[in-house]
Amino acid sequence: MSISHFRLLLIAFAGMLAPAAQGQVTWALEAVRIYPAPDVPPVNGGKVVVAGTRIKAITGLSDARTPAATKAPECNGGIIVAGFQNSHVHFTGDEFLDAGRQPAEALTGALTQMLTRYGYTTVFDIASDRDNTLALRARIGNGQVRGPRILTAGLPLFPPHGLPIYISHFRKELLDKLPQPASVDEALKVLRENFAAGADATKLFIATPQGNNSVKRMPAAIARAAVDETHRRAKLVFAHPTDIEGVQAALDAHVDILAHPPIGAPVPWPESVMKQVRDARMSMIPTLKLFPFELEKEHVPSAVADRLVSESVTEFGKFAAMGGEVLFGTDVGYMTDYDPTLEYELMAKAGMTPMQILASLTTTPAARWKEQRRRGRLAAGMDADIVVLDADPADAPRNFASVRCAIRHGEVIYVRR
Ligand SMILES: [Zn+2]
Repeated sequence: MSISHFRLLLIAFAGMLAPAAQGQVTWALEAVRIYPAPDVPPVNGGKVVVAGTRIKAITGLSDARTPAATKAPECNGGIIVAGFQNSHVHFTGDEFLDAGRQPAEALTGALTQMLTRYGYTTVFDIASDRDNTLALRARIGNGQVRGPRILTAGLPLFPPHGLPIYISHFRKELLDKLPQPASVDEALKVLRENFAAGADATKLFIATPQGNNSVKRMPAAIARAAVDETHRRAKLVFAHPTDIEGVQAALDAHVDILAHPPIGAPVPWPESVMKQVRDARMSMIPTLKLFPFELEKEHVPSAVADRLVSESVTEFGKFAAMGGEVLFGTDVGYMTDYDPTLEYELMAKAGMTPMQILASLTTTPAARWKEQRRRGRLAAGMDADIVVLDADPADAPRNFASVRCAIRHGEVIYVRR
């Protein structure tokens, strides 16, 4: 046996032993500051002790009971926050094609580029080729691929003959799979198939731009039936509203989460509608960076684009200020520029404080999915989903993007090299 064969064999054995041993591994991460949660004061100088997949304790730096060992020395010395959730992503890019068979390293690389290097330990895919996304999730689950926890809405529902113009560049094989049910029965059949396959939510494109200023709308009976069926299964419904009429349709159908604000709608957005969204406890995903990204694609002059973006940011800020629930999300996968720095800056420009932004990334999604006892904050017994930042987000919200390490369920899924 050659040395390289022997080495391969050792690696293979290490891989087999790792999952069994993981439950016993206890290690610590040192930090200059820890934010256990947005609603409690930070700890200056401390350690997060991880045992297996959970957090064992948060201690002082000199605490003698904590182990000195660490899994990743490069992750010491930063600012520690809980793992982030990006509630609006899509696995529609070519780099995720044929996820069941692609080399594992290629998929890990693609997930790193789009997601883990920005600290997302949980992501919600809200429209993609369902079975491909589920294959990707399975390979992360069995340890072949390093990546975030993936939740998915599976195949989304569109209005009859109503695919939106902005996805016309998608692969034909994918476009052909996208359901545009013409009746309640057809819509329910799509949902049954989604949930049987393993989907975690429903996504409705409630209003879809067709070009030439025309918009197709999902029949109200279909939207309402899809929501009722999803709620019957104790799951949540996302809707893409497009405009104020779409927000109203989402309200009428009892949708849970707006995948975007009515970005680009004439300002001001009607206060009474925004209050209804808040009072219905419908969450909103800001995706603010998407707007300048789209305007640039359409070659809108920058002075005009700046004004339009600023108007939408102001209107979104009013919703946040009136107590509307905000879930962080960026629409990456559709948006090919993955860097969330501008998103954080625009959320701050809308008036959100650094701790409100942290809540939209951590405690708010955990509560929305009724997992607040498991994740969203750093405390003994919680999942070891951890992000290490280089700089303090309280100094500048853009620092949420200065991710050095991401850890999910005690496993280091990203280290910046
Ligand atoms: Zn999207």
